[in-house]
Amino acid sequence: MEHLRRSKVADLLQSKERGSEVLVKGWVRTKRGNKNVNFIALNDGSVIHHIQVVAEVAKFDEELLKKITTGSAIAVEGTLVESMGQGQNVEIQARKIELFGTADPETYPLQKKGHTLEFLREIAHLRPRTNTFGAVLRIRHAMAFAIHKYFNDHGFFYIHSPIVTGSDAEGAGAMFRVTTLDPLHPPLTPEGKVNYTEDFFGKETSLTVSGQLEAELAALSLSLVYTFGPTFRAENSNTPRHLAEFWMIEPEMAFYDIHDNMDLAEDFLKSLMQYALDHCMDDLEFLNKMYDNELIDRLQQVIGSKFERLTYTEAIEILKASGQSWEFPVDWGSDLQAEHERYLVEKHFHCPVILTNYPRDIKAFYMKQNDDNKTVRGMDVLFPRIGEIIGGSQREEDYDSLLRRIREMNIPEKDVWWYLDTRRFGTAPHSGFGLGFERLILFVTGMSNIRDVIPFPRTPKNAEF
Ligand code: ATP
Ligand code: MN
Repeated sequence: MEHLRRSKVADLLQSKERGSEVLVKGWVRTKRGNKNVNFIALNDGSVIHHIQVVAEVAKFDEELLKKITTGSAIAVEGTLVESMGQGQNVEIQARKIELFGTADPETYPLQKKGHTLEFLREIAHLRPRTNTFGAVLRIRHAMAFAIHKYFNDHGFFYIHSPIVTGSDAEGAGAMFRVTTLDPLHPPLTPEGKVNYTEDFFGKETSLTVSGQLEAELAALSLSLVYTFGPTFRAENSNTPRHLAEFWMIEPEMAFYDIHDNMDLAEDFLKSLMQYALDHCMDDLEFLNKMYDNELIDRLQQVIGSKFERLTYTEAIEILKASGQSWEFPVDWGSDLQAEHERYLVEKHFHCPVILTNYPRDIKAFYMKQNDDNKTVRGMDVLFPRIGEIIGGSQREEDYDSLLRRIREMNIPEKDVWWYLDTRRFGTAPHSGFGLGFERLILFVTGMSNIRDVIPFPRTPKNAEF
């Protein structure tokens, strides 16, 4: 089989050629037939659709055909012909079949179709073999590419912020410690505390919760930058929207105020939805049919809508006047919960919403303070089904105000001296935001649990694969 180059199923299904010799390699999804002819549905991951392989039983070793079952990996050489069957244009009349790996029908967990998503989470090592995860993973790839493309097209530079960090100032959540000290016999200080000066980095370190602070440093030189990397939060939040390890996209822009920031967030999100519609339609149609009949409509609606912009204070008034009963009470000064965010988006405005000017006591130290002494220039973008998809702000660029806030919040100055330095030397107004990659993928795929949009989810008590 060496002389033929392997074709991808995606290309063959589009091909106008007939009668040409082709070679495909992939995994068997189903095999059916009778004593004369076998029909094998072959998938190679390049596209959601399978190609039909027709094998005349008389032409093949009977033992070989018997061993080819759902899940086996094979190579097929044959002729690409017009298909008489329904649902496909072309099929392959097989001449040679090579079997790479069998999948014993007695033990192969995906022998039958129709498993629940919960069951598939228990076999995360095999679930990419399903139509659903093939679709999700292809869309995830397309969105990652579209994100880099968007920023590249708009003059942003990709900054690789560190994953191990020595500061826990960001305050975005509990952190995972990174250490090489012996857990049973750590070196101790004379006061009996763990002596981190003897640790690998000579200080306490953790996995990062955000690349923002580093992105700010870069933005105050390169003007337009973004990070796109893994972030970690050691919170015990077992919800369908939280992971302990997730990917975040964090653009940071010098000379942008909060309004520029909102404009960018809105344009960015819409262009990602458009990219999905333009490049992932086969997968979207599958997910639309199987999981969420409104998925494609919803993507189109978001692109066509103007995101409603209002202040946190206005949102609180709407929520209070709504007559709804809430699990968490609505009061000026407390953080909005997903139920409140989704009410605003799904019941009140019927479009994405951007809230601004949050109470400063529920937001991070770096957000720019408003003159009212109560609120800061934060902005959250709220989406249907998801709630918060983006959190961002205009940053405090004034040295004195920032230092005052750092002291009020008891953040050790020794941890953020480098951050403060940027406000001492050539400070400038700037803004940025964080988009949770998996929340975006949840929205674009219509899946309902964040564990189903990342290959190997990390959640409390779960890091098996
Ligand atoms: P939430 O209130 O929903 O827990 P947050 O306010 O703690 O989120 P930020 O610190 O603002 O989140 O992070 C920026 C973005 O990262 C969020 O808007 C969201 O899209 C995403 N995000 C935050 N925490 C998680 C998580 N645990 N798992 C997945 N995505 C997350
Ligand atoms: Mn947030």
